[in-house]
Amino acid sequence: MRAITVSPGVANSARLEDVPPPPPSDGAILARTLALGVCGTDREIIAGDYGWSPPGEKRLVLGHESLGRVEEAPAHSGFAPGDLVVGVVRRPDPVPCSACAAGEWDMCRNGRYVERGIKERHGYGAELFRVEPDFAVKIDADLGLLGVLVEPTSVVAKAWDHIERIGARTRSWQPHTLLVTGAGPIGLLAAMMGAQRGLEVHVLDHSTSGPKPDLTRALGATYHSNGTAVLETLQPDVLIECTGAPKLIRDVLGRTAPDGIVCLAGVTAPGQVLDFDIGLYNRTMVLSNETVFGTVNANHRHYEMAADALARADRGWLTRLITRRVPVAQWAEALKSRPDDIKVIIEFQS
Ligand code: BGC
Repeated sequence: MRAITVSPGVANSARLEDVPPPPPSDGAILARTLALGVCGTDREIIAGDYGWSPPGEKRLVLGHESLGRVEEAPAHSGFAPGDLVVGVVRRPDPVPCSACAAGEWDMCRNGRYVERGIKERHGYGAELFRVEPDFAVKIDADLGLLGVLVEPTSVVAKAWDHIERIGARTRSWQPHTLLVTGAGPIGLLAAMMGAQRGLEVHVLDHSTSGPKPDLTRALGATYHSNGTAVLETLQPDVLIECTGAPKLIRDVLGRTAPDGIVCLAGVTAPGQVLDFDIGLYNRTMVLSNETVFGTVNANHRHYEMAADALARADRGWLTRLITRRVPVAQWAEALKSRPDDIKVIIEFQS
């Protein structure tokens, strides 16, 4: 079968090649891949900056944003041939740590977790994949190809889950405004879930053209593209930072309303040294009970939350989020980012 593989650590080593079918040890569910979403992590892996192949192997099957149709599933697994299925990315560490033992592998404490298509386990970027029933999520048939958005939405669902748990530290927490920085797929999905919660949503991005402003407005949200000017007038109760851009992170820290929550969801390369008034920051955080927290990955509950959020979302809006669909034979085109891209997917059945 064809698979997109890469030698982690080696820039531009990705290729489409024939590999053996997935071994039964990958899981009892066998699925035929319909689509694979591409994200910044995949681009980092093909640039040689991130990623690890399975122990003893040189190449890694890329891909962690999956969507497949079940071909084989054990009886009583909850899955049957024909079902749409998405595979969970992370697997718990083998120790396991207290978080992984509780099914919260997204909070792994010893770093020995593995991630499909990213860290030491082959991904879903092949014509067929296998997955363990406990790490598979059944997708509503109505969602169709949009099921490929479940994994990125799961990351956002976790962010919301944790924001709400932090907010619940005060019995009176009633957030009103949300600011999302970055109108990529994660930012727009975070804004969508904020709108689903009835918040007044603002999205900040540098694009002034392309689909981002309209997609934001279609949520009933306000789009801001003149830098951080919005922070002069808006004190959001919740701020979800999705760019990972160091200057923007510096500018948003400590800028929420009292009791506010900043969620950092974008990854940054180390080595970015900036001037920062730590005294002012600390004073604001302490005197206004503010919180800044980071979040990565998602556990099974978050995938369910994601599938539910997508099922309630406007299908037309979700369809517009997928700005390019690239046939697998032209996979390399999908991995080159273009200015107006939001979510790019590779179609395996076209
Ligand atoms: C994936 C997460 C993963 C993270 C770090 C993200 O792109 O969506 O599941 O934990 O990369 O490897």
